[in-house]
Amino acid sequence: MNILVIGGAGYIGSCTCKALARRGHSVTVYDNLSTGHRDLVKWGPLFEGDILDYARLCECLREVRPDGIIHFAAFSQVGESVKEPGKYIRNNVGGTLNILEAMRETGVRNIVVSSTAAVYGIPKTMPITEDFELDPINTYGETKMFMERMLADYARAYGLSWTALRYFNAAGADPECETGERHDPETHLIPRALMALDGRLPDFYVMGDDYPTPDGTCIRDYIHILDLASAHIKAVERLIEGGDGEGMAMNLGTGSGLSVKQILDAIESVTGLPMKYGMGPRRAGDPPSLVADASRALRVLGWKPEHSGVEEIIRDAWNWYRHDNA
Ligand code: UDP
Repeated sequence: MNILVIGGAGYIGSCTCKALARRGHSVTVYDNLSTGHRDLVKWGPLFEGDILDYARLCECLREVRPDGIIHFAAFSQVGESVKEPGKYIRNNVGGTLNILEAMRETGVRNIVVSSTAAVYGIPKTMPITEDFELDPINTYGETKMFMERMLADYARAYGLSWTALRYFNAAGADPECETGERHDPETHLIPRALMALDGRLPDFYVMGDDYPTPDGTCIRDYIHILDLASAHIKAVERLIEGGDGEGMAMNLGTGSGLSVKQILDAIESVTGLPMKYGMGPRRAGDPPSLVADASRALRVLGWKPEHSGVEEIIRDAWNWYRHDNA
């Protein structure tokens, strides 16, 4: 199949490109390289362009004629989204609108889009199913919720086929160290803890230990990017093969949560190095616990995580970190 990966120079996008190519699909990346990296585009040509550039998007779609699109291009930092909402709305909502319009204009019918657990806000019970109320507590989550609604609107009006994948906490790296996480600034727990382990982040701390959880630190559902990549492939293949035209959202997680402290303990045990860290205040906008019920993805896609044990996640993240910072 011929797949256009928008945002394919980023963390999850590049890993998905590798998995697509491994499966024999042909891959083209559309990326403006604002947060993605040219050297991580290894599995197909790069079409440099911005999702806010409608003419460029149409040109790309006409040239590539993809059977399906996987759309990763979005700003994704919760804290920044609250401080600069316009930046998030313009890019995530406006950019997705351009993609949908360009698909309509050029006759591309299938799209898989990155969504997030942040659409649920602070759920009252765990694990979270897709039927929970959508009630995001930050602009990032709001933009993703609205993106999902736009897909449904375009499906109703123009017969487009879509799937939105709501990731919980993406983690780990390509075990062959061909791609992985490289954010600047880095805000995520595991890469920050690895930077601290390496002496590159002296002020690393646990953001709150007074949450209503067993050890007081936040619980998250960490999912290996290899598992995220395989879910995207199953989702896009299903759309292209004509599986049930009705669009839907699906959670991607393991169904079990780990606290910040449990992650830090696992980092010590996998690396054999001592973690030094302090306790600090809560970060605004962090829900105490987010754990997925991913049974819909199992039912509809036949997907389940195979690489998301905490040791495998941390081993691959640590190997990539050392490789990328050597
Ligand atoms: N966290 C932390 N210290 C850090 C970065 C994150 O204690 O330096 C915590 C954060 O408060 C949250 C968890 O780690 O409870 C996961 O945060 P991350 O940013 O990795 O993902 P999020 O859940 O926000 O998508």
